[in-house]
Parts: sequence; C-alpha cells; structure tokens
Amino acid sequence: MTLTEKLLARAAGKARVEAGDNVWVKADVLMTHDVCGPGTIGVFKREFGKTAKVWDRNRVVIIPDHYIFTSDSKSNRNVDILREFSREQGLPYFYDVIDDPKGEWKFDATKGNLKRQYGSNYAGVCHAALPAKGHTRPGEVLFGTDSHTCMAGAFNEFATGIGNTDAGFVMGTGKLLIKVPETMHFRLEGRLQPGVMAKDVILHCIGEIGFDGATYRAMQFDGPGVASLSMDDRMTIANMAIEAGGKNGIFPFDSRTAEYVDARTKLNGTNSAYEPVEADAEQKFVYEHVVDLDQLEPTVACHPDPGQRKKAKEMNVKLDRAYVGSCTGGKTSDFVEFARVLRGKKVTIDTFGVPATPDIVRDLQSTRWGDQTIWQILEDAGVRMTENAGCAACLGGPVDTFGRINQAGLKCISATNRNFPGRMGDKESQVFLASPMTVAASAIAGKIVDPREYVS
Ligand code: SF4
Repeated sequence: MTLTEKLLARAAGKARVEAGDNVWVKADVLMTHDVCGPGTIGVFKREFGKTAKVWDRNRVVIIPDHYIFTSDSKSNRNVDILREFSREQGLPYFYDVIDDPKGEWKFDATKGNLKRQYGSNYAGVCHAALPAKGHTRPGEVLFGTDSHTCMAGAFNEFATGIGNTDAGFVMGTGKLLIKVPETMHFRLEGRLQPGVMAKDVILHCIGEIGFDGATYRAMQFDGPGVASLSMDDRMTIANMAIEAGGKNGIFPFDSRTAEYVDARTKLNGTNSAYEPVEADAEQKFVYEHVVDLDQLEPTVACHPDPGQRKKAKEMNVKLDRAYVGSCTGGKTSDFVEFARVLRGKKVTIDTFGVPATPDIVRDLQSTRWGDQTIWQILEDAGVRMTENAGCAACLGGPVDTFGRINQAGLKCISATNRNFPGRMGDKESQVFLASPMTVAASAIAGKIVDPREYVS
C-alpha cells in the first residue's frame, strides 16, 4: 500500500484498502474557519439538533483567519458566530481574534491595517496555525473546510479539504465516507540549489501534469531528496497538491517531522502521541515522475492557472505589484529568503508582506541581521509589512483587504498558491505565482526575473 492507502486503511479499521474502495474513516481532527465555520455549524445544528454536542470537543479546532481585518460587518459577525458556538460547546481549541470570550469582533479601520489588531489567542492562517499549535500529527486523519488543508500532508497524515455539509456530518459523528484515491508518485532526488525554493518544486510538478492532473488523486512525495527539505519546505509542497486537483499531498515521516511535531505538541500541551505510517515495499502508482532537485530552476506559474509553468529567466513580464504571504508563502523561512534578496535594496513596485501567523510576525521582529531586524530590513526595502497576520489578499476578500487588487489590468507576482482569474481581487488582473525569492527579485526589477542574478 502507498502512504495514503496505509493511512486510510488504519482510519477505517481495515488491514488493507485499495484505490477506488469506499471506506468510513475516523477523523482525528476537524478544522474550520470564519468563512466556512458558520455554514458548517448551520448544517450541524440542522441535522443533529439545536442542542447537539460535537462528537469530541478536543478534536474540533476553529481558526478564524480569512476575512478578519476588514470593516465588512458580515465578515466580523462570522467571527462572533464562531465564538458563540465555541463557548456553547466548550471547545478548548478556538483561536479567537479577541481576548474577551463575551466580546464582539470589530475591525477598527481608523487604526490603519499595518498595526496589530488582535488579542493573545489569535493564531493566523489556519494551515500554518494547525502545525504551529500542535494539531498536526503523523498517522492521523485531518479534515478541514478549506482546500489547502492538504498542507498537513507534510506531517505524514491524510489531510484533505471538505465542504460544509461533510464537515457538519463529521462534527456530529467523527467519521466520513471516503473513496480511496489513486496515488501519483513524485520521487525527489538531489538537493535544491541556491536561489531555488520548495515553491519551485511544486510549481514544476504541477506544470508537468496541469492544474487538473491530479484530480482526486494522492500526490506522494518521497525519495532521498526529501531529507534535505525543511518542514516549511514540505508544507509548501503539500499545500499546493490541490492546485493540481489532488485529494491530498503526502510525505514520509522522518526525524525532522518528529522534531517539529514533538516540539509543538509539547509547547501547546496538545496530544503528543502519534503513530506514523511507512509505505510498503510494493506500492501501486498511477503515475511516476522523478524530480531532480539539483536541476530545478526558479519557476513561475503564469496567469490564469497554477499549471502554466515557465522558467523565471525566460520571462520578461512587466509588473505592477508584488505580494508575499499566505499559508504557502508567508512562513518565517519564506520571509527570511525574501529578505535575503531585498537586504540593502529597494523595491520599485508596490510590494506587500503579510506573515501567516502572529508568531511569524514576532520571529521577523525579533531576529536580527546585524543592527536590524528582518522586519526593518523589509520595511527599509520599501515593503509594506502588516502585523495583521492572516489570509489577507491571497483570496481577494472584501474591498478594504490589505493588498487586494482593486484595479483591472494589474499584474502581480505572488508567493501565494492560486492564480485563477479574480483570485486576488479584480477579475481582469493577472497573478503570477513564484517563490518568495523570485517575488523579491522581481519587485526590485519591476518585472519577472530570475532571483539567482540577485543573490551571491
Ligand atoms: S492564505 Fe490563502 S490559500 Fe491559505 S488558507 Fe488563506 S486564503 Fe486559503
């Protein structure tokens, strides 16, 4: 069995499953956020009754993160609905925007959007917050009401996005009927070279198969090249499995996984017990591709979908803006590489930086390179950095969202994960997906360039 088959067999209580089998699997964690949470709660209450209790209050994790720093009153209200539900259910893992459990969330536009407007429990983008808060464990099954839930496959777990109806059902029963996906095999060999990042790996893979090339399939990344990838790298790759239509992305377990997970579960007091899965010697794949990491070059996914692959060095597209952020490209390591290129230089186009979580804001504001913090280096380079960690303009959002593209025809290079028309705002804008290093170099040049020309 493949890694995904092993995980689903275990969750289904079976010795063996095969691709195409329909099995009832037990959920270890259900995650929802401010966009889909209210709908999920509505389904749950309609189907299980107004006074029903969730199947296991320790396994429901609620993370507001999408439409938070906006004056849109309906978006603010969504956070209040999550708070009311979490209080009613006694959920220990609700990462509220504010500290007052009886309060109401209201974004104050008069304070601007750069300075922090959240309390001490706020956790930022759900997919970055889940592992950081100790909710991703090898061998488990994670369902989330968000397509990029597949990011947690980096931790050797079956993680996939589900709709509100399915999530309402999981909330009440703790299980879900799943068709076991076929597995596509991406064997990673070698090592990434300077100027090339994990984002380039996944943009390369999606470019190979197209934006629907993995539809309802597992994308398994393994091979000797995995060992050199950090957990942040693996998260970036697994995150974008859905951009090829994948059901999930999955990595093997190793000492790096253990080190990350053990530290986070200990820090947050979450369940620290887990049992990883190992693939069998005999595995059935529907597709095989070897990725030689040494040979990869900075890669861009052009408008209008994540499968439109080109090498950065072959492009000469003039840009209007640049954006670094999101679950895919807003991690500490992403900003570190972004800053490495920008240090001592200036951007020539509007450039926005949105850390994925408050912890990342703290990392960037406390890590010093010489006499400056990384945050200061980025601000000096002309990047508009916000402390309001969250999804921000990754998916457009209400018109007052920080970094949203509100003008037709703008071309933006972005470290985010999705570039279908209108994704970051105006339907007539164009988004080019790239690594944080490529975004940095392009922000300096005002056009898409290869970052290797900008780093020694
Ligand atoms: S940062 Fe973007 S991709 Fe990630 S959860 Fe938020 S909207 Fe989705």
